[in-house]
Amino acid sequence: MDSFLSLKREILSLIENGVEHEIYGKSFLGENLHAFHKGSYSGKQLLITASIHAREYISCKVVINLIKDYDLSTGCYFLPLLNPDGVRLVLDGNDFIEDNALKNLLFRLNNNSNNFSLWKANARGVDLNVNFDAMWGKSKFTTFLPCSSGFIGEEPNSEIENINLLNFIENKKFFMSIAYHSKGNVVYYGFEKLNMKEFKIAKNIAKNIAKPLNYKKIQSKGSTGGLSDYLSYSLKIPSFTIELGNDKLTHPIQLNKIDKIYKNQYRMLKKIVEKYGVL
Ligand SMILES: [Zn+2]
Repeated sequence: MDSFLSLKREILSLIENGVEHEIYGKSFLGENLHAFHKGSYSGKQLLITASIHAREYISCKVVINLIKDYDLSTGCYFLPLLNPDGVRLVLDGNDFIEDNALKNLLFRLNNNSNNFSLWKANARGVDLNVNFDAMWGKSKFTTFLPCSSGFIGEEPNSEIENINLLNFIENKKFFMSIAYHSKGNVVYYGFEKLNMKEFKIAKNIAKNIAKPLNYKKIQSKGSTGGLSDYLSYSLKIPSFTIELGNDKLTHPIQLNKIDKIYKNQYRMLKKIVEKYGVL
């Protein structure tokens, strides 16, 4: 049985093993937000993130494996767990929450259930991946009240996890970003508002990401407020969303499926860094 503690132990063991690391802030419930770094600090960097959607915590495990395997000189920042409170809800339920009012609120938002295995949001019922300032709230799938999935928040970048992430990104120079989600074996690229030149570049990179993974590449139509949307549109960093795992698998994909899902991820990363990495 997966547990939040065992996932957290894996993250802490990276620190114990000397991987360069910083805590870039805390989540709403006070969990540390971890950033790891490998390779050179000079030149433009690659950004790899995971687990912004709680039930997609298998992506955290993929990034932990990438951190262990990464041996290239191009600099890479790895943020394996963007939404620790949500992931903890999925893995442990809401028993760990000491504030009874919050615990009851989350129970109600979760359709009066203690089973949080399909939860995607943070511990305030905001979907962090529709909360960024990129056509915020313009999607037809927008939800305006706290719930397990899809609520955009009261305003763009309202959530502490996202505020800390944007502060972390602000003074760094990235040549590309990859956000890991699950599921579907798909690489999404090309926010709708990109200009023709940006779109062409994104499509070409997406092809090179999808090929070694044997994934499909699909233009991300109708997506707004996502991290990849924001980074590619507002910060002009080519940004891609990788949906891990066959669509036939059910949410949440258990950690024991990691070997099959991880296969080829590092090979892909190596190819991308060798082709587009900047030293
Ligand atoms: Zn997702």
